[in-house]
Amino acid sequence: RFFIEHPSATEEVTFDEAESQHLAKVMRANVGDMVVGFDGKGTEFQIELTSVGKKKVVGTVRSQEEVSREASRRLTLAVALPKGDRQRWLVEKCVELGVARLVPLLTKRGVAQPVEKAIDRLRRAVIEASKQCERNHLMQVGQGQSLEEVLASRPAASFLLHPSGEAIHHDAIVPASEVLAIIGPEGGFTDEEVAEAAQHGCQVVSLGPRILRVETAALAMATLATAVPGP
Ligand code: SAM
Repeated sequence: RFFIEHPSATEEVTFDEAESQHLAKVMRANVGDMVVGFDGKGTEFQIELTSVGKKKVVGTVRSQEEVSREASRRLTLAVALPKGDRQRWLVEKCVELGVARLVPLLTKRGVAQPVEKAIDRLRRAVIEASKQCERNHLMQVGQGQSLEEVLASRPAASFLLHPSGEAIHHDAIVPASEVLAIIGPEGGFTDEEVAEAAQHGCQVVSLGPRILRVETAALAMATLATAVPGP
């Protein structure tokens, strides 16, 4: 499976440099091979390769169809991102679980401030994970947002995850077609941040009596929200 960022109006497809290198060097593709392409917006293409260069691979679309492998509801995770490899791992697993949107959350005790370069790297990780798990819609990775900004556009079913919140109940998730979950940094949310979310109508919920790492809390919530059948 290969990502095609801008499928042309014609049947000819040119893969970008990263995808061309993957095809030519790693997969050792040849002219005449059939590969699957996806545009990240839901369309899957059957493509016959017509030219294979180390940095530029070209093919012809033989057929295409809309194929959705999205989750049962739209889940946005606003997460105070952990550092380094843990960040990339979190993104990969969120893509696999069908999270629709990941927003790097800027908090008082956050450690990793998202910068433009890091977000670009995470977007590349989204493509790699989508190739592997056969997802056809790219998970969005937003710009860093403050808690206030995240709360300003929250859906009705919004949860702030906190070890001392009320136990989460799946009845709160079942009727919702859209869910927001907010996950704090390793140092936790401040009392003011918890109060702010509650004032804006977020449910402050717990996932159990153990302290989970940021990515464990995010993925546990993603599992709950994407596995419970949609409305
Ligand atoms: N000492 C911090 C505290 O009390 O909040 C621990 C922070 S925890 C390592 C990082 C984030 O994961 C928390 O801010 C929270 O959003 C989420 N989290 C961790 N354990 C949780 C639990 N049992 N229930 C709900 N959320 C949890």
